[in-house]
Amino acid sequence: MKKAYPYIFYFSILLVVLSCKNKKLTEVVEVPLPSAVEKFTIGSADDIKADDGSFELIKLAYSFDAVSPEIEARTMQLHYSKHYLAYTNSLNKAIKNTELENLTIEEILSKAVADSINLRNNAGGYYNHSLFFECIGTKAGVLPKDTLAIAIAKDFGSFEGFKNQFKNAANRQFGSGWTWLIVDKNGRLQVTNTPNQDNPLMPKAIVSGTPILALDVWEHAYYLEYQNKRKNYIDAFFNIINWKVVEEKYEEAIKKE
Ligand code: MN
Repeated sequence: MKKAYPYIFYFSILLVVLSCKNKKLTEVVEVPLPSAVEKFTIGSADDIKADDGSFELIKLAYSFDAVSPEIEARTMQLHYSKHYLAYTNSLNKAIKNTELENLTIEEILSKAVADSINLRNNAGGYYNHSLFFECIGTKAGVLPKDTLAIAIAKDFGSFEGFKNQFKNAANRQFGSGWTWLIVDKNGRLQVTNTPNQDNPLMPKAIVSGTPILALDVWEHAYYLEYQNKRKNYIDAFFNIINWKVVEEKYEEAIKKE
């Protein structure tokens, strides 16, 4: 029995320590409230300006909430005022005080981007987003008319044929990239993809041509609404295309060819 005393002693200490700990746990401690969730307010695209430089953000002909629920205002705002703005500022910075400063974006894309990954990503990011934001914004549900409608029927069999090809291409793009409707050098319409911020105006594009419609399939373009369901985003995109703008782009492109 004598030998058991030290154990009883240690056990008693342990009980005291545990009871203190328990006491601490039951004490009322003032816990700070979680910081308030950042409140989202819809701003205006007109308030977002690129830093001084050769290129400015395109003006939006619609508000950030104009294409909801296909694309929510929050995504539109973040996409325009963070991602697109960043590409534009970085492009301006990259060409500042160089001979590229006075070129058009198309000239920069076709000539200069082979020499610099930074320029390639940011000139591409600027051009691609400008076209993307220009080609959406309506919920009128109108389809292409006149010359573009005829060309789509000729080159894809039907509007449905075009739509399927475009949607398949966008779903198929592995990782970040873009899906395009372009006018090739023979004046034919084609659907093609490019990775990252590349586009069909860049040298070595797999299919070259003048883009007239652009779909951003980077996750930042749709993740808040659609998460991993890119297919649903692509389907929704077809509800908000401004075909009048795409038609104007088509007319310009075939004049150039
Ligand atoms: Mn984007």
